[in-house]
Amino acid sequence: NWSSSDSVISTDSAGETAETGSPYRVVLLGANGVGKTAFASIFAGAADSMDSDECELCGDEMCEKVIEVDGESAAVTLLDTWDTESDDEWAQERCMHTGDAYLLLYSITDRASFLRASELRIILRHFRPAQHTPIILVGNKCDLVRRREVSVSEGRACAAVFDCKFIETSAAMQHNVWEAFHGIVRQLRLRRDSKEA
Ligand code: GDP
Repeated sequence: NWSSSDSVISTDSAGETAETGSPYRVVLLGANGVGKTAFASIFAGAADSMDSDECELCGDEMCEKVIEVDGESAAVTLLDTWDTESDDEWAQERCMHTGDAYLLLYSITDRASFLRASELRIILRHFRPAQHTPIILVGNKCDLVRRREVSVSEGRACAAVFDCKFIETSAAMQHNVWEAFHGIVRQLRLRRDSKEA
């Protein structure tokens, strides 16, 4: 539930203030049902709220907190504003503009969601042509081995084509989810450092 006190910038996990003034805005993108809400809940700290009723509580669509990555704290705002059912192109466009970085999710059990991730990557490139916006392609639900429709090598190959990082995760098992959040912060730092240089 990230409308609770969790949504206020806290120093609980880091003990120090954030490294920069404004938080990094990380946007969750992906087809319906791939696990965006589950990712958001883990980020917000509602780790055991995997069932969908509980996830309804994450309705505020954003959560801001300070996390520690490689011994350095980083303020991150996670946005789960992507509405796959929406025909509101303006809202979707805004979503494509608001992020400093994107976690592009698909489900390894749903090939259509994998194809959708490719489309979204192309749309992102259209909106952010000149910038090296950090993106991680995330193959979620890797715990569902028997229902796998997209192989690891397909995911990796797709990420290579799209020039982004790749990780497989399981929000249900809490596997690699924080690695994805940490990975995106590392990429944002690299970009910041190269800008400063
Ligand atoms: P969203 O539409 O992208 O926000 O997807 P949700 O986070 O609501 O997840 C859709 C369904 O998939 C829910 O029933 C989740 O509990 C389930 N789910 C999400 N991530 C995983 C995962 O890693 N493994 C499994 N087995 N189920 C998951």
